[in-house]
Amino acid sequence: MIPSIHRPAYIEVDLNNIASNIKQVLNHLNNGEEIFAVVKANAYSHGIVEVSKTALESGATGLCVATLDEALEIRDAKINAPILVLGVTEATDVSLASEKNISLTVADNDWISEVKKQDFDKINIHLGIDSGMSRIGYTNREMIEEAITMIKADKRINPEGIFTHFATADDPDDTYFQQQLTIFHKLTDDLEIEFKYKHVANSATALWREQSDFNMVRLGIAMYGMNPSGTSIELPYKLKPAFNLYSELVFVKEVKPGTKIGYGATYTAEENQWIGTIPIGYADGWLRRMSGFEVLINGQRCPIVGRICMDQFMVRLPEKYKAGTKVTILGKDEFGNKITIQEAAEYADTINYEIVCSLSERLPRIY
Ligand SMILES: *Cc1c(COP(=O)(O)O)cnc(C)c1O
Repeated sequence: MIPSIHRPAYIEVDLNNIASNIKQVLNHLNNGEEIFAVVKANAYSHGIVEVSKTALESGATGLCVATLDEALEIRDAKINAPILVLGVTEATDVSLASEKNISLTVADNDWISEVKKQDFDKINIHLGIDSGMSRIGYTNREMIEEAITMIKADKRINPEGIFTHFATADDPDDTYFQQQLTIFHKLTDDLEIEFKYKHVANSATALWREQSDFNMVRLGIAMYGMNPSGTSIELPYKLKPAFNLYSELVFVKEVKPGTKIGYGATYTAEENQWIGTIPIGYADGWLRRMSGFEVLINGQRCPIVGRICMDQFMVRLPEKYKAGTKVTILGKDEFGNKITIQEAAEYADTINYEIVCSLSERLPRIY
């Protein structure tokens, strides 16, 4: 999708805040762990290339993405830092990954067998261990030992890392987290191979869990200034949100009592009301379930009335505002008020991650 730049609707990203968050987390990591910035999904919607550059300038030493294509986008931007693809990549794409020096996750031995048949120079791999997330990776020590034998037998395969992922690191109760950690140790302690990186931490683990023996963290949501737990656990130190969604009133009118608004005519004006139209809709990822939520205009909270359309939605204004007036949908307005992503997430009965990731490529990103 082509960003719609001729429309007053845009995401404004504060890269200084991302830089400051990375430095904060680095200062609080006490075992000298490196940070790999997680920039999958267009950097949680913040813009993959700009965030990657900012993260690397601020002390991150590598990047993590979900797909090979995301890694290629970073390489196309002439960024040479290590990149790890966290998801499963097709074995037949190993030569492409090798050519671009992109590290791949290994999740089973059939994959290694397939890779061995491919023509490539050298591939960096990270062994993915499933310690209880039940998504991808090894669950069995014999299979891991077999993987190591297979890797050692092929000089082109470089054992760069071994890792796992926690399902409940953002939960105040750490029972399941500790079980996963114990399983990870059982599966991986004293293997007959040296990995450069051993990593287990996502943001929640990096913020709240004691962990030793590891030398890298995969920092996602915290880098963007958001709380991985929503509101279940307070942040141990301040992080700064970097994401703002702005638009303008493109049309303003006064309606008479009884006027219906939007598809399904679900809203009826009870008296004379000023109604403003904002040119963002569910095609931009401003979800239909945000109907009834609020936006900030002239420092006032204005309710969203009627259903959110594909490309527009309507709000009730406290008085006549001019077309062209700035609208803050998410983030800070010019008067010091804000609508947090967490607040929007709670309204939509989801998590902060999903609110930002939903906002589509049609919205230009401004830095
Ligand atoms: C997305 C992801 C992360 C980052 O998670 P945050 O909660 O955003 O820090 C880390 N590791 C893996 C394997 C992931 O898929």
